[in-house]
Amino acid sequence: MATNELDSDSTKTLENVSVSMQQCYENYIIVDIGANLTNKKYGRDLDSVIQRAKDSGVQKIMVTGTSLRTSREALRLTRIYPGTLYSTAGIHPHDAKSWTEGYLEELREIVMNPECVAVGECGLDYNRDFSPVDIQKEVFEKQVQLACELGKPLLLHERDAHQDLLDILKIYKDHLPAMVVHCFTGTSEQAHNYLQMGMYLGMTGYLCKDRSDNGVRKVLEDGLIPLDRLLVETDSPFMYPNTRASKLPTHVREALTERSLTFLQRYCTFQRNEPCSLPAIVEMIAAFMKKPAEEVALATAFNALKIFGLSQ
Ligand SMILES: [Zn+2]
Repeated sequence: MATNELDSDSTKTLENVSVSMQQCYENYIIVDIGANLTNKKYGRDLDSVIQRAKDSGVQKIMVTGTSLRTSREALRLTRIYPGTLYSTAGIHPHDAKSWTEGYLEELREIVMNPECVAVGECGLDYNRDFSPVDIQKEVFEKQVQLACELGKPLLLHERDAHQDLLDILKIYKDHLPAMVVHCFTGTSEQAHNYLQMGMYLGMTGYLCKDRSDNGVRKVLEDGLIPLDRLLVETDSPFMYPNTRASKLPTHVREALTERSLTFLQRYCTFQRNEPCSLPAIVEMIAAFMKKPAEEVALATAFNALKIFGLSQ
């Protein structure tokens, strides 16, 4: 073998290594703490959805359980994608009315698995009122007690039920490892109250929809949420981040990188959002907070690893 051949080979190898290192360096490290990957919309191409998420920088995804069926299915998915997918198990307030005697025992069995990293989504939703308020409260409290018993964090859903949620959590907060309000859509005052209780707030593409003067955009702009209390999530297939929303401020629109927009525009729609939209969401959150996107990505990933113990 001629020396120059060897040289050209090793130069090529070096080039390849440096390209992949560069990609690695340029890419975010993000954790999506809420994606409904058990939704039938992913039935045909979940492999590609997860691969795209990883390519975009979303290294780990928590698959949300909202019923017994989806909680079981979410746990099953973690076994197919170990180290990438983690699951939660809970009964969504919409489904509270379906709760029967055996539910608690079944939930406990699911939550006891190490891959199941939180109890939830659970909580209160007075906006849609799919289940009577009294039943919602009762079913929620049972799940809070389960989280205390098993020492797992809570992944909370709340709409128009801020005070009632706080009242229940106040009783248990000292016995819970962490409380996370997923897809926070409330006001500055509500954010303040949650943070005072030591809770974490999850942000989604909802910030593209927010039109209020005192909602999530204001909360971010005013720097009300310290970076060590913030988490990010897509809530896929819901909460598509519409970066074309007319009221999105110019500096936020301009903060979006070509790379993130490519993933968003190529693969995500109103009908089916995907975890690979998370880099775009992080860039918008960071722009509202006037911080570098890398800083928000890293801080939120660190929080997710710490709270939910996403090891391996
Ligand atoms: Zn929810």
